[in-house]
Amino acid sequence: MQKEIKLVFYNQGLRSYIEVDLCRECPRQDDKGCCGFYSPVFYSSDFAYLLKSEPGLIDKILQLNNLTILDASVTINNRIDGESYRCYFHSKDGGCLLTQHLRESVCRHFVCPGIAWEQEEKLYPWKQFFAQLSDYEIELNNRIASRLQEKGLTLRDKSKRSQFFEELLAIFEQETRILPDFFNKQPAREEVVITRQIMYGQDWPL
Ligand code: SF4
Ligand code: SF4
Repeated sequence: MQKEIKLVFYNQGLRSYIEVDLCRECPRQDDKGCCGFYSPVFYSSDFAYLLKSEPGLIDKILQLNNLTILDASVTINNRIDGESYRCYFHSKDGGCLLTQHLRESVCRHFVCPGIAWEQEEKLYPWKQFFAQLSDYEIELNNRIASRLQEKGLTLRDKSKRSQFFEELLAIFEQETRILPDFFNKQPAREEVVITRQIMYGQDWPL
C-alpha cells in the first residue's frame, strides 16, 4: 500500500529534530516501533541542555537502576518486553514520554529505513545538515569529556557529580560561544510530504 508521509525538519541548533507523522500509526504495529530496540544515551551536550531547562530530569535519570554510567555519558538500558525490548521512556499509549527537546540525539534524528527520506533529492540539504550536526556533536562531546577528565571529574564518582555538572555547563558555554556555519544554512522549519510503499509487522524495516 502506498502512503503519504509528512516529515517536519526543525533546525534548532544542537536541539534540532525530525518529526514523522507515520510514527503515530507505526507500520510495525507492536506499540513500540524503533523504540523497542534502542537504549538512549545522554552525552554532555544533552546534559547541558537539561541543566538549563529541566535539571530535575537528570536527577530522575541518575536514580534509575538500569543505567550504564561512563565518565561522561549515561545509557538508560531498555528492558525485555515480549519478543523484543522497550525503551524505559516509551509508553504503550502515547509513545515517547519525553518531548523532542529533552531527547538525546539519536532519538531526535532517527527515522527508520522504511521511510528512507535521505533518498529524496530535494532533501539532500537536510541530509547534509544532520550529518554535519552529528559530526559536530560528537566532536563537541569528546572535547567536553576530555576537559572534564583533565579536571579529574567523572560521572562514576557520585560524590563529585554536582561539581561535574557545574564544570560541564561552564565548558559547554565556552565551547559553543561560536557555532559552526552550517546552522545558518537551513531554514528553521521545513515540512515535506513523501510517498512510500508501506509493509506491516516485521516486514517493515527498522
Ligand atoms: S519504526 Fe519508523 S514509523 Fe515506526 S516509530 Fe520508528 S521512525 Fe516511526
Ligand atoms: S527516549 Fe523516546 S524516542 Fe528515544 S528510544 Fe526511548 S521512547 Fe524512543
